[in-house]
Amino acid sequence: NKPVIAIDGPTASGKGTVAALVADKLGYHYLDSGAIYRVLAVAVAQQALDPDTPANLATIIPMAASLPVQFQGEQVLLNGLDVSDAIRTEQAGVMASRLAVVPEIRAGLLQRQRDFHQSPGLVADGRDMGSVVFPDAVLKVFLTASAQVRAERRVRQIENRGQQADFQAIFNDLMARDKRDSERAVAPLKPCDDALVLDCSSMPIDQVVATILNWARE
Ligand code: C5P
Repeated sequence: NKPVIAIDGPTASGKGTVAALVADKLGYHYLDSGAIYRVLAVAVAQQALDPDTPANLATIIPMAASLPVQFQGEQVLLNGLDVSDAIRTEQAGVMASRLAVVPEIRAGLLQRQRDFHQSPGLVADGRDMGSVVFPDAVLKVFLTASAQVRAERRVRQIENRGQQADFQAIFNDLMARDKRDSERAVAPLKPCDDALVLDCSSMPIDQVVATILNWARE
């Protein structure tokens, strides 16, 4: 019966790290749904298509349904080329969130996400895993943290990649992304009715993972 654990939450809440660890512990597959939105963002940027120009949507919407993306372990390939680093930039995140407001784009990416639902089970992270993509998930977690803590985490991630990070710019970008993600008409970012909300602002990662594993066993 291939159980699904859905972990949704705002950007930089730590859900990616947590979801991957929970999947690892349970021996389940792992879906980073944001990565799919980000790969589409890179593909759109490569073709210099501005999604705010309505005529461009006629090109972008079919791209979503037939996106030539492959996941090979840690590597993400677009058209066979490694885009693992390109999808992690702030620009790709911002473009992903601009594309994510378009219902037809979300619909185009739906099946690709559901394809990850395989034996023995799946841990899926994103914004609408519990509400739209896997409404039958056995456990739905909404993982959140304060904007301050999330911005600090994002700064550390960027610095760990050997790049410079400007806290204020990142904080502002994060607030703008939260606003866009929560105010959009389709699949707005919010806990679904049957989600357990976990604020991990002052929780070490292993405690977050242990909490979710306990809930999964209940
Ligand atoms: O989670 P991540 O920051 O990688 O996602 C990038 C963007 O993709 C988010 O800001 C959000 O707008 C969008 N997204 C979404 N639904 C998902 C996953 C990501 O709308 N399930």
